[in-house]
Amino acid sequence: MNVPKCSVELIDAIQRQRENIQTLTSELIQIPTENPPGNNYREICNFLEKRLKKSGFEVQLIRAQGTLGDSEKHPRWNLVARHDAGKKGECIHFNSHTDVVKAGHGWSVNPFAGIVRDGRVYGRGACDMKGGLAASVVAAETFIKHNPNHRGAIEISATTDEESGGFSGVASLAKKGYFNPERVNHVIIPEPFNKDRICLGHRGVWWAEIETKGRIAHGSMPFLGDSAIRHMSAVLTEMEETLFPLLLNRKSNMPVVPVQAKTASLNINSIHGGEKEQLLEYTGLPAPCVADRCKITIDRRFLIEESLQDVKHEIKFLMEKVKAVRSNFEYEITDLFEVLPTMTDKNSKIVRVVEDSIKKICEKQPEYVISPGTYDQKHIDRIGQLKNCIAYGPGILELAHQPDEWVGIDDMIKSCQVMGLSIAEILN
Ligand SMILES: [Zn+2]
Repeated sequence: MNVPKCSVELIDAIQRQRENIQTLTSELIQIPTENPPGNNYREICNFLEKRLKKSGFEVQLIRAQGTLGDSEKHPRWNLVARHDAGKKGECIHFNSHTDVVKAGHGWSVNPFAGIVRDGRVYGRGACDMKGGLAASVVAAETFIKHNPNHRGAIEISATTDEESGGFSGVASLAKKGYFNPERVNHVIIPEPFNKDRICLGHRGVWWAEIETKGRIAHGSMPFLGDSAIRHMSAVLTEMEETLFPLLLNRKSNMPVVPVQAKTASLNINSIHGGEKEQLLEYTGLPAPCVADRCKITIDRRFLIEESLQDVKHEIKFLMEKVKAVRSNFEYEITDLFEVLPTMTDKNSKIVRVVEDSIKKICEKQPEYVISPGTYDQKHIDRIGQLKNCIAYGPGILELAHQPDEWVGIDDMIKSCQVMGLSIAEILN
């Protein structure tokens, strides 16, 4: 492949940043930003602010006051940094979430020490996604050093709460106009989809609560009551017999990974019926009652080929089918949360540019993937109305949220080079 001289220089310069990328990743891991509850958001913003200001960025720290999760004890601080040399051009934006999930058990190393061993950086958030954040920072800094008078602008944002919906993070910045297409043209989210894969979007999600109703009575005379649990059991049987097989056969043309997630799916997150569970300190027996309420929470992941309306209608239809054959069957469906599927056009400029950079750096055709679950692209797409967004970054998705999470240093360098070349292509 033909690579221009200035790009070769940039690739070589990034190759020499091994120590830099590795140290930055460790330092970010050493700021424990566990969510919940959302620790140290201000600290990680301060750390990045200091660094990015030194590299010539204009930096803003913005608190998402009053949003979901924000409190005096755990304030939600976001950072937006911009490098603009004053020449007209496009803006490329890198967005990373700073929160990590709870470390949990089963680690063989300290999850917040940022230990480097055998070419890997270990720690909670190493791959999801402090390694990606470090790669994007070093890519931007190295590019700026080589092209201080570039056209357009480079932005880096570091945002809160992606792991819990992103409402105080990307959603709140999008509401304030930070992802307005007039301000930002292209967004890369360095989530861990690996150095040679481009993630174009995600499946849709609908969470709902389904409640069946009954009538309470003495458990010794159940014929005097009406069991909401038995009604729910009929619902679950109907799901097992008709809905699950149907969903399993509904395959998407979206390249969802892992391949099992290419079908529509339904998970029953929880079930509860009858009396409340007794408190641990209670030593007595439960009282005999017919259950007058039973509730399940469903998590339906849907495909771009399905409409949210049809997805909801399918459940409604199933409930009506059960109602038709059961006397006194009463139910209620309550919406909890919904996100439409999203998939960025393969022909958009950001996809083509990153594809071209991957071909140059990894010497292979990139794979296109779709995430089974949603991530912050949903807010950039819906609230920001910005469609040129992809997820691209180092790290292996399957390691995310696991004990002994790590990110490969070679992979970070390759991703950093892909990001650097992509910046150069868009801004020069
Ligand atoms: Zn993530």
